[in-house]
Amino acid sequence: MQVYADNAATAKIRPSALQTYITTATEFFGNPSSLHEVGQAAKEVLEQSRASIASVLNCKLKDDIDKEKDYDRLIFTSGGSEADNQAIFSAAKFGAKKGKKKIISTAIEHHAVLHALEQLKTQGFEIVLVPVGTDGIVSVNEIEKAIDENTCLVSVMLANNEIGTIQPVAEIGAICKSKKVLFHTDAVQAVGHIPVDVNALNVDYLALSAHKFGGPRGIGALYARKGAPLFPLIEGGAQERGKRAGTENLPAVAATATALTEAVTSLKETAEKVTALREKLIDGLLKIPHSALNGDRNKRLAGNVSFCFEGIEGESLLLYLSDMGVSASSGSACTSGSLDPSHVLLAIGRVHDVAHGSLRLTLNEDNTEEEVDYLIQAVAEVVQKIRGFSPVWRDLQSGKRNYIL
Ligand SMILES: *Cc1c(COP(=O)(O)O)cnc(C)c1O
Repeated sequence: MQVYADNAATAKIRPSALQTYITTATEFFGNPSSLHEVGQAAKEVLEQSRASIASVLNCKLKDDIDKEKDYDRLIFTSGGSEADNQAIFSAAKFGAKKGKKKIISTAIEHHAVLHALEQLKTQGFEIVLVPVGTDGIVSVNEIEKAIDENTCLVSVMLANNEIGTIQPVAEIGAICKSKKVLFHTDAVQAVGHIPVDVNALNVDYLALSAHKFGGPRGIGALYARKGAPLFPLIEGGAQERGKRAGTENLPAVAATATALTEAVTSLKETAEKVTALREKLIDGLLKIPHSALNGDRNKRLAGNVSFCFEGIEGESLLLYLSDMGVSASSGSACTSGSLDPSHVLLAIGRVHDVAHGSLRLTLNEDNTEEEVDYLIQAVAEVVQKIRGFSPVWRDLQSGKRNYIL
């Protein structure tokens, strides 16, 4: 059996989005910046797609360029990473001009945020990463306490990509609003999966990426509230109202609009269906001795199942599962050559050894109950096999080491 359970890494493109992609690429091949009819037809598709995405997110756009300062903006980027970077660097640049060089974020952000913040640190910014609880959720209070008169930006993700936990973004946004501090959220894992309304969430910036909800890869968007500073990362032409140079990736933009519209139309039913699969999978995996779910069981994305197994090394788990037809992820930053366990798992209090035995299975509406049964069986088998030759497991069994889970 082949089971794709890595939808948080990237989800298969929706047939409807692929169709839009092909139609747009073939029929609207003009450059939206061209003044002739072919170009203007392409521009119309661009603006319709923008309006359709804006309507899903509840942002108020205005086509009139002269009045752009009075309206929200939604600009297309190459993906979630670029959108996160642009929001953070824009707020930082604006803050630095006013002598405010403190940024508050969390210990569980995606590297697109964390590495951007690390770069700002080398430029004299003070970066405060607020810890999270063992439930994988940041405390609103801790964020509030960290904000002071030097703070130019708070950045808190809406849903975590490794453990799926949903953060109290609306509450944090309300605090930032009252303290007049810019607020960014990386909503890449959330858009298309849970309701996302930029006003209800009280955000100034929001980043999304199409390939996490069945759109194409290499395309995303950045929402910026009216008045929120926005500077380009890429200089060149006047595309995206001067905020993002480069000829627009129109087929991808149009396909993003199709994918998002479809995702939100069936959002509730999909979430119910996928949550049922998730719960079955969690119950099944909890039967494996010395295993634990990572992150709060309920305040998490419908499709996220993140586990730690004691006496296991994540990489071998993935390789054996791959042999059994299962596409999964360790949910860690473990790239070949790096043995650092995931910063997210360490942040929720998993010790190094335990964090190394991590597994992330991310489901969506294409997964079936039969697949979940197979996943439960395959993981149990593989865990038992690896433990059979694990020196750590032997030490745990003989009492030389104490079990943590
Ligand atoms: C995937 C992801 C990103 C990066 O998005 P890309 O489109 O791949 O650049 C950023 N943040 C989170 C939470 C993600 O899951």
